[in-house]
Amino acid sequence: MENTIAAISTPNGIGGMGVIRISGEGALKTAENIFVSVSGKKITEMKGYTASFGKIIDNGEIIDEAVALVFRAPHSYTGEDVVELSCHGGMYVTRRVLRAVLSHGAKPAQGGEFTKRAFLNGKMGLTEAESVMDIISASGSQSARAAMYTMEGSLRKRIDTVRSDLLELAAHLAAWADYPEEEIPEIDEDQLRNGLEKCRKELTKLLSTYDAGKVMREGVDTVIAGRPNVGKSTLMNLLAGCERSIVTDIPGTTRDIIEETVMLGNVPLRLSDTAGLRNTDDIVESIGVQKAKERLLSAGLIFAVFDSSSDLTGEDRELIDLLEDAPAIAIINKTDLDAKIDSEYIKAKVKHVIFISAKNDKDTSELEKAVEEIAGTSQLDPAQGILANERQYNDAQSALESIQEALSALDIGMTFDAVTIVIEDAVNSLLELTGERVTDAVVDQVFSHFCVGK
Ligand code: GDP
Repeated sequence: MENTIAAISTPNGIGGMGVIRISGEGALKTAENIFVSVSGKKITEMKGYTASFGKIIDNGEIIDEAVALVFRAPHSYTGEDVVELSCHGGMYVTRRVLRAVLSHGAKPAQGGEFTKRAFLNGKMGLTEAESVMDIISASGSQSARAAMYTMEGSLRKRIDTVRSDLLELAAHLAAWADYPEEEIPEIDEDQLRNGLEKCRKELTKLLSTYDAGKVMREGVDTVIAGRPNVGKSTLMNLLAGCERSIVTDIPGTTRDIIEETVMLGNVPLRLSDTAGLRNTDDIVESIGVQKAKERLLSAGLIFAVFDSSSDLTGEDRELIDLLEDAPAIAIINKTDLDAKIDSEYIKAKVKHVIFISAKNDKDTSELEKAVEEIAGTSQLDPAQGILANERQYNDAQSALESIQEALSALDIGMTFDAVTIVIEDAVNSLLELTGERVTDAVVDQVFSHFCVGK
């Protein structure tokens, strides 16, 4: 009974259904103590993958009606016996059912404990377990898709390929060193170098997926900049897809920064609209302007808006100068009006320039394309396996460093023994990445981010 855990697996709030999950050796017995089925069948007599309808009764009091779903070890999420009680969703009822379950021997589950057990029981690897949390927290279809692929093992397969290549090289080196009298062919140094080079390339490629994947999951801070009346608020409304009240530009007052998160293509953007960059003597306003400049320079992405129907002003040019080398898109707005703007001047300085009429256009695909290009998400193929978090990134990075070390060891003519040791270091980093050789501390760390009930 001791290792039996339980938690509410559905969100805390009012809903159509609430699920209490119980896992461990005593799961069936615990559930049986509080569940009386209409058919009279006892939970401990039920087969795996079967359900039964009945009542939750604690101390003679009927708490709710529920469906009990039984999973038998090892054919469950955790690999243990599991019972899921689906009752009515409601803050009180689900908690009351959980209390009944806990008073009959189960312990409250820690955050992520169900998934941690799944990992420890070999139901899934560490990268797959991590992706479970990513699926839950995914805000867009692309990041959910990426997490799903990871759960299906795309990242692990990619790592396994590199690892087995490295192991083969290490084994060959070791055999040659350990059994010099046997008929093991001489090490071909070129072949060794090529093998390492191949692994180096693959890991470098894998590491490059991290930033784009992160953008897709977490979004990017995007600042909409431009002088007053070029159409920043209108653009923001277009992207947000609805009319919102916007603080108007009252001369001499600084405007607050307005924030909004929108999905553009596969990238979540945290948009903020800032004051312009106008030079001013007014002390209050100049603080606002300074704030805007700082925000601009620290932004992940800049939408710099210009009015196509007027000549470039000094302020426009000042903004354009700030955009050089920044992750920026120049948006030339009001294309429905006669063009006066010197767009060639902008194109010469800013790599991504798009034309739009924020007031009349509904189509944002051009902007979407530019965003995905800058964020690097357009070339990202989650089916190939991508790195999803810092832990994975750091392990892949140390593997890469070891491979580079092995290559330099070859260059300076060090012994094959020394090369073997660094190749083994690389293998160990990859084993840590997939969770096959990992310390308890790392495992605890991974699952500490999970919510209770998962
Ligand atoms: P902001 O000060 O940069 O936020 O600019 P606003 O979004 O408040 O827009 C200023 C004015 O330009 C408003 O009257 C808008 O209706 C108008 N405007 C915005 N976009 C367009 C456009 O594409 N075409 C035209 N003709 N007017 C626009």
